[in-house]
Amino acid sequence: MRKIQLAVVPGDGVGKEVVPAAIDVLHTVAEVHGGFQFEFTEFPWNSDYYVEHGKMMPDDGINILSAYEGVFLGSIGNAKLVPDRVSTWDFIIKIRREFEQSINLRPAKYFKGLKSPLVNPRDFDLVVVRENSEGEYSQVGGRIYKGEDELAIQNAIFSRKGSERAMRFAFELARKRRNHVTSATKSNGIFHSMPFWDEVFDEVKKDYQDVDTAAYHIDALTAYFVTRPETLDVVVASNLFGDILSDLGGAILGSIGIAPAANINLNGKYPSMFEPVHGSAPDIYGKGIANPIGQIWTAKMMLDQFGFEDAGSLLLDSIGDVIESGFVTPDLGGKASTTEVAEEIARIFKEKA
Ligand code: ATP
Ligand code: MG
Repeated sequence: MRKIQLAVVPGDGVGKEVVPAAIDVLHTVAEVHGGFQFEFTEFPWNSDYYVEHGKMMPDDGINILSAYEGVFLGSIGNAKLVPDRVSTWDFIIKIRREFEQSINLRPAKYFKGLKSPLVNPRDFDLVVVRENSEGEYSQVGGRIYKGEDELAIQNAIFSRKGSERAMRFAFELARKRRNHVTSATKSNGIFHSMPFWDEVFDEVKKDYQDVDTAAYHIDALTAYFVTRPETLDVVVASNLFGDILSDLGGAILGSIGIAPAANINLNGKYPSMFEPVHGSAPDIYGKGIANPIGQIWTAKMMLDQFGFEDAGSLLLDSIGDVIESGFVTPDLGGKASTTEVAEEIARIFKEKA
């Protein structure tokens, strides 16, 4: 029996509702599977902790988390108590950087029953692999002059290692899916970094002759998300392009409450972190109506990461069944509560197993 030690940070707002719901589902999954067990250790690091201690986590917080095999995070942020920049930079970005989580993985898949703004969302099933450590989000640059001559200079950093790492991850993932990788580029407009990105992509793809590829400029690719999603399987993109594309992917599904994400450490030195796309949703917190699906789908990504892909795909099927049945939370047009939806997903999982 494999025991997997996980650190849990429910965080703020609806994180405190959806994380326990997802953990209950994970216990059911482990019980039914029989080959593994999750052991959760919870940490109360959130905005209330900040008010009390003046920081988002203890000074040795990173050290504490590094003893675990993964971090299961709800959502962090309460603008009334902590400036957003502090909660983001001193917590989420700090963990991503310290734990070298160089890949941000965001799947988006349509399920029957979702109210997508697309006319024909049926074939929408893709994963955005976003480079998570460099690219356009750099602190290199500065501002000079004042007044009407003022200038801001922002440099993007693209390393061969960083680009190649994201691309290889995308190709490996495509082999487990529909064998197709699309690269997001803009080499007709961006002079140095994007031609380099294309060059690295062309080199990497030689090692994956069995995988079909495409490369589109980001403007065209954004349109293809809407007009021909059936041609997309795995999409690999730089930090900024990946950020934009994955939000678009979430929006196409109809509610941010179902979108999952994972920050992956590839070198095995540190834990990966699993967190849904949505925030703490203070407007609905405390009502018991937060959609738990984003957190449960995130749990499915964690199962995949630990090698329990069978259980992961069965869990995703169970989520799909629940969405189709209409037994969902108000954001998806239903009347069910957070715990009711989670319990129903666990029940269907048991039935399918
Ligand atoms: P943050 O700064 O923490 O990212 P935000 O306000 O930018 O917060 P969310 O907290 O994700 O973003 O909220 C955006 C909208 O989506 C809100 O109306 C919220 O109620 C809704 N929402 C977010 N998560 C869920 C969920 N799990 N279930 C239902 N609705 C949700
Ligand atoms: Mg937000």
